[in-house]
Amino acid sequence: MIELASFQFDFEVSVSKVLQSHWWSALFVFAFPLLVMYAYSDFIRSSELNARLGWILLIGGVAYLFRHTVLQKLLLGVLFLFVLSGSLDILYAVTFGGVFTSASFEAMALTDASESWEFLLAYASIENVLLLLFYWVVAFYSLKRILFKAPERKREKVFAALGVLMILASIQQIHQRGRTFDVLPGFTGVAIDYSGAHESIEVEINARKELYKTKAFTAQKASEAPQTYVIILGESVNRNHLQIYGYPRATTPELIQHQAELLVFDNVISPFAQTHPSLNVALTEADTVNKMSVHAAISLLGGAKKAGFKTWWISNQQPLRRPSSAIASLADVEHFISHDFHGVEVNRYDGYLLPSIQKAIADDAPHKVIFVHLMGSHLQYRNRYPPEQSVFKGVEGVQAYRPNPSSRELDFINSYDDSVRYTDTVLGEIFESLQQVEGVAALSFIADHGEEVFDSKDFKGHGPDGVTRHMLEIPFVLWRNEAYQTTFNATDKVLQQQLHQPMMLDDYFHFGLCFMNIESDLLRRDRALCFEDYTPKPRMVYGKDYDKELK
Ligand SMILES: [Zn+2]
Repeated sequence: MIELASFQFDFEVSVSKVLQSHWWSALFVFAFPLLVMYAYSDFIRSSELNARLGWILLIGGVAYLFRHTVLQKLLLGVLFLFVLSGSLDILYAVTFGGVFTSASFEAMALTDASESWEFLLAYASIENVLLLLFYWVVAFYSLKRILFKAPERKREKVFAALGVLMILASIQQIHQRGRTFDVLPGFTGVAIDYSGAHESIEVEINARKELYKTKAFTAQKASEAPQTYVIILGESVNRNHLQIYGYPRATTPELIQHQAELLVFDNVISPFAQTHPSLNVALTEADTVNKMSVHAAISLLGGAKKAGFKTWWISNQQPLRRPSSAIASLADVEHFISHDFHGVEVNRYDGYLLPSIQKAIADDAPHKVIFVHLMGSHLQYRNRYPPEQSVFKGVEGVQAYRPNPSSRELDFINSYDDSVRYTDTVLGEIFESLQQVEGVAALSFIADHGEEVFDSKDFKGHGPDGVTRHMLEIPFVLWRNEAYQTTFNATDKVLQQQLHQPMMLDDYFHFGLCFMNIESDLLRRDRALCFEDYTPKPRMVYGKDYDKELK
């Protein structure tokens, strides 16, 4: 009995000793997020493990030397910052099954404060909240209990020296190679690299204006007939949720009603599952094959402007977005409705764009191109449409990855379908306005990328990690009036033959020029769907062949 009690006492003392050791704190703070990453992610950079081991050694070693309380507080502060950074790593890994990269960081850095909150709400789950709570509670208690001690044993002195060496090594690594993410693990390293490489939007805007002025290229209208074109850029629209593409729910009654005036292309994908890289190549002459820098690439808007069209950019997205803000800056009329709403996200529905669109359509200019950037089905679907316009409640017509989706999954699917239907309502209003136009009028509706809404796996969202076909398969719809069909009869005839052609959105620049009948030395006929010379190319998405591996 006595022996057992003393054993238990010894055990408790040694456990308590371990927990008071700064080694334990450092180990937990750095290793726990990594464990979560290993459990949830497909791919982890080898530098993640190396950097974390390095930091455990660094913190563990120098802690022996930090005798002064100010230095000790500094050390605790550094560990605390790594807890914050580790929390983001955990959240990202659990939610997206990936590790922070500059691409994922970019997507987050360009969201404003109210959107970040929405982002958190959209992805909060019992799983990630519990993991975070566990991380915070254990980290808090172990940081609180650390007892600092001087290096007494030889082993401890060696560690102290190693810690100092690690500091020197990491300074040298960052200084020489400029790759902070190899040295600082997870979110922090990527964030520092990102902000270092981050050009201010203002610089980008000036560069685009300069490019338009200085780059030699031609662009002319093929006809002087009055023409009005509307180019609708949807957001996160998976065409498999559109009734007009065969979805069993009535998500696109307006498109169906106008079907006689539509060309519905059913084999178009986005080359990325993220807004920024996708719009870069959709809206400029840069594409996934020529890999031109977007900063050297003329935009479709620039081409139309040069051809003598009056141009509009009307947007419900944040003004500080790439590449849209720079492209928009060239437009004759630029209107971001978030300015009217003081940047507030909530209740800012795409329908609020309609007065500006209608005003543009009614403008006296004979030749007009109106770009409209929707919020569409972005992120928190139920915030994209007025609640009273919600239609889908039950499970009827749902095509999910499993026959009986949970009520949480069903909520997301229903609100996604409601957001698609709301986009359709907005399109219907624009068709009405365009029908009043005398002369040629046409509208193109695409989306920057699709969205996985529990269609093929247990996930909602889009992004480079674990991309699915639903994140790529986008609507590609062309509405045109009688005048278009007679004035540009040859173009229209070819387009009617191309409804099932494979196309990727990085060729949209060429399609845009040809469907608006703009002749330009930048236009490639083999890339433009409205020429018989159009030749589909292999569709590579994040290194995968869509037609062979993802379809
Ligand atoms: Zn997007």
